[in-house]
Amino acid sequence: MQRDTSFLTWPFFDDHHRQLAAQLELWCEAYLPVDHSDIDQACINLVRMLGDGGWLKHSAIDPKLLSVQALDVRSLCLIRETLARHDALADFAFAMQGLGTGAISLFGTKDQQQWLHKTRAGEAIAGFALTEPQSGSDVANLELSATFDGQNYILNGEKTWISNGGIADVYCVFARTGGAAGAKGLSAFIVPADSPGLNVAERLQTIAPHPLARLSFNKVAVSAGQLLWVWPDAHYTKL
Ligand SMILES: Cc1cc2nc3c(=O)[nH]c(=O)nc-3n(C[C@H](O)[C@H](O)[C@H](O)COP(=O)(O)OP(=O)(O)OC[C@H]3O[C@@H](n4cnc5c(N)ncnc54)[C@H](O)[C@@H]3O)c2cc1C
Repeated sequence: MQRDTSFLTWPFFDDHHRQLAAQLELWCEAYLPVDHSDIDQACINLVRMLGDGGWLKHSAIDPKLLSVQALDVRSLCLIRETLARHDALADFAFAMQGLGTGAISLFGTKDQQQWLHKTRAGEAIAGFALTEPQSGSDVANLELSATFDGQNYILNGEKTWISNGGIADVYCVFARTGGAAGAKGLSAFIVPADSPGLNVAERLQTIAPHPLARLSFNKVAVSAGQLLWVWPDAHYTKL
């Protein structure tokens, strides 16, 4: 049966959206679905392929342009719909590159945004580490602590249900820095996956498999330059 593409004529799509959808459709027909027998390897391969194809350029801002307008939501919808129709894992791999780097696109310094060159090229895999065992919907209840020792922030605690956990090269980690209660003491950090003290405590299985893990942070030292965002009136706890 012929696929109905009449939605591409809807008035909020421009010609470049129609071209994007047509080009990605051809790419998907050529490369997807991939072999899912090894889920971690499949995701690693997909990120590389999506990078090589140029599709990950849509997942984060171009650090050279420094404009969040580069994140075009209509393009993101078309890309995700097309990838998911061909291979759900490809959509997952694409979406996570954006979720894991969203805060870097929006709030990162020029130095921090250097990560985006790699994630947009498929050379680094991103993860987003917010959820904790006692704090899912209730984000303001998160407990992973970041205390400043005069040189570095020291992260201690746990994150769970972290997509790309185990294969990510870098995580955006939310932690409690301030003395203020609830959401008013939270900050975000860029934490490379190979930081000493950051470990995969458990791999989690789901009905629709994808890399998913519980992460433990045991005295993970993060430099002040990796502090991505801080609640404006948080005050830092000194060791
Ligand atoms: C496959 C998968 C991938 C994930 N990937 C990531 C990731 O990459 N990074 C990350 O940080 N997290 C990730 N998560 C975690 C996800 O964000 C949390 O599961 C989600 O925030 C819900 O938290 P919870 O599971 O603790 O459920 P809970 O917060 O305990 O909620 C349980 C139920 O109670 C309801 N509920 C909660 N609070 C209220 C309220 N105040 N009023 C009414 N109803 C309420 C909820 O709607 C839900 O039905 C992932 C989860 C899954 C399942």
